[in-house]
Amino acid sequence: MSCNHHPDDSTLLSYGAGSLPDALSMVVACHLAVCDDCHDKVAHAEQIGLRLMEQEPVESISKSSRDWMLAMLDEPVEEVCSETWKTPEADLDGDIPEPLRPMIGQWFSDLHWRTMAPGMKQFILPASQGKLRLLKIAPGTFMPSHGHSGSELTLVLKGSYSDELGRFSAGDVADVDPDMTHQPVADTHEGCICLIATDGPLRFKGLVPRLLQPFFQL
Ligand SMILES: [Zn+2]
Repeated sequence: MSCNHHPDDSTLLSYGAGSLPDALSMVVACHLAVCDDCHDKVAHAEQIGLRLMEQEPVESISKSSRDWMLAMLDEPVEEVCSETWKTPEADLDGDIPEPLRPMIGQWFSDLHWRTMAPGMKQFILPASQGKLRLLKIAPGTFMPSHGHSGSELTLVLKGSYSDELGRFSAGDVADVDPDMTHQPVADTHEGCICLIATDGPLRFKGLVPRLLQPFFQL
């Protein structure tokens, strides 16, 4: 699958180092299952990390080493062993991404979606660090405008939406900075299903979303 929007290199590096909160980590894993470019970057980062740790203890990895690793992610990949990352052909049935299936099965239609607002339903997934949810948005629905108190990673699984950052289709990831405010709108031709991870509460502008926030774990 060719994707137009990818996680930041620093997010991929944290994922490769195992230091992303598990909710965010699951979104990256689901993107890697469909994006060869990011898959190769993570495999490359892991190789570099291993080499670096063979040379010096983890505590002494300095900012300059981290910058160097980020720069190395853009170098050509050599001898990357990707066997463990590829989705086996036998698992390609079902519309739920393979990394999520052990938790929730194979089909979106089998999930018990909970209505949040007209045109918006969610399904909350277990996560020990951060919040992880599937969101189903009816065609043309405007999400409430919101900011963030932490990171937000959104992976489009079906359909598409647009916001201040551009248009996001199946496979694309929005890696939103804590200081950004945005208002996603589902495209009008079909509904949109997204996998969304956050590691801090959202900041809504409107009163109604703020009042509903505790009920929907936003
Ligand atoms: Zn990617």
